[in-house]
Amino acid sequence: MKIPQEIINELINQAQQDAPNETCGYLLGLTSTEEENTDIVVTENYWMENTDHSPEHFSFAPKDQFAALKYARSKGLKILANWHSHPASPSRPSEEDLRLANDPNIRYAILSLQDGIHLNSFRIINGEVVDKEVHL
Ligand SMILES: [Zn+2]
Repeated sequence: MKIPQEIINELINQAQQDAPNETCGYLLGLTSTEEENTDIVVTENYWMENTDHSPEHFSFAPKDQFAALKYARSKGLKILANWHSHPASPSRPSEEDLRLANDPNIRYAILSLQDGIHLNSFRIINGEVVDKEVHL
């Protein structure tokens, strides 16, 4: 999955603004085929409220998820990834993140603000990381 630098900058700004709480959203974009993972490019960051307002957890409101899906469809985009920030922990899924990652068709990206800024994305199947990409 490719994430252009200007979108990475947006994610960093959003994460820093919402710190010390976790921030979250979707990464929308285009994909050439359903199965192939290599050609996907993120074209938009879609902010969603972290309804937990917590430094250690995040949740999306179902109405926001529905609105995001509707917005993506209206622009011919797909939800490529679910992303959130880890203001004070590394860029890897927590136990809870693994447990809640229930969609094997999207990636899960985590932007860490701990020890510099790091952005990795993961594919998670049945609570296990099966693929990791380093973006920053
Ligand atoms: Zn997390």
